[in-house]
Amino acid sequence: MLIREVRARWVHVPIPVDQQHVSDFGRIQSFDTAIVSIEVESGLVGWGEAKAAVGSAGACRALVAAVADEFAPQLVGRDARQITALWDRMYNGPRSGYALERGRAFPVLGRRGLSVSAMSGVDMALWDLLGKSLDVPVLELWGGPRTATLPAYASGGWADADGIGAQLLGYVEQGFESVKMRVGVMDGDVRTSIARTRAARKGVGPDVGLMVDAHGTYSPSEAMQFAAGVEDLGLRWFEEPVNADDRAGARRVRASTAIPIAAGESECTRFDFRDMIEHESVDVLQPDLAICGGPSEGRRIAALADTHQLELAPHCWGSALSFSAGVSLAFASSSARVIEYSLGGNPLLRELPEEDLAVANGLVPAPTRPGFGVTPKPDFLDEYEVT
Ligand SMILES: [Mg+2]
Repeated sequence: MLIREVRARWVHVPIPVDQQHVSDFGRIQSFDTAIVSIEVESGLVGWGEAKAAVGSAGACRALVAAVADEFAPQLVGRDARQITALWDRMYNGPRSGYALERGRAFPVLGRRGLSVSAMSGVDMALWDLLGKSLDVPVLELWGGPRTATLPAYASGGWADADGIGAQLLGYVEQGFESVKMRVGVMDGDVRTSIARTRAARKGVGPDVGLMVDAHGTYSPSEAMQFAAGVEDLGLRWFEEPVNADDRAGARRVRASTAIPIAAGESECTRFDFRDMIEHESVDVLQPDLAICGGPSEGRRIAALADTHQLELAPHCWGSALSFSAGVSLAFASSSARVIEYSLGGNPLLRELPEEDLAVANGLVPAPTRPGFGVTPKPDFLDEYEVT
């Protein structure tokens, strides 16, 4: 299992106009990500994903360069099965000898951000490779599924107060028992967000799980006003009420409401999630496996969720690769109950893989294919690669 080649490709896929949506990120016209492949001497290939942004669009050339120039030289010629040691090598760089010998972290400058995203893609490809080499799903290596299926929640909800009820009801009619809508600065003011959320609850009725996501755009006082205005609606969670760097603000918001607070999609490594937990600012941890440090780090974050009796809900707004890795993590974790399923225009979720993702009637079955079970179509990669 000696590594022969490590490669990343930036794919930029236009979204058809009729599938584009508008949020605080603007009009989303493309889906971009970095697809990582690792080939070993036998010719077997593992696939991973690294993201430059939590949303859809974003330049990924820096990720491609980090994989090619920073990580590939550290990995080529090494045994692909030694994933934990390879993670420590990537994270600690030239000081990895100290880290491996002394059992603590000696990170180089890239403790957060694109360096850790790039590592995430490599780590995901290594787990995929290990599963494929043993002809088992990665989930089996992590102890197997806790349940045969998990419910998916439909992630979307951008319409105004007049249309949001029908938009979300359309998701429910596809079989989803819970749905997520966007709120926050894109609404202009808190009163409009409250009106949209009340219209959403009225539209879907009392029994559908309803989440709201502010993308971190409220001030703490706006978030508290919003939470107070929708407190009686029985929301499943309130996601990213304030800027992820305002942990004290998030703590004030959480203390002000009984609505569970979700966050974490842009956080890197177990250390960020430890900080969120120590600040008592979160109820639902949402690591993105193409950002947080990969499945290896996702497993450590899941252990933090278990330990602190918090919910784990991996952020699954990416290609089929990070989606399937997030699904595998959820099935293997005691604290996960629901899977995010994007209903935005996302060709990387539905058109990139050879396989069918098998999300039907709002249910995700436990993965059964080797590795993470996703093989990117070669023609698709060639067509959309940015060179
Ligand atoms: Mg979100």
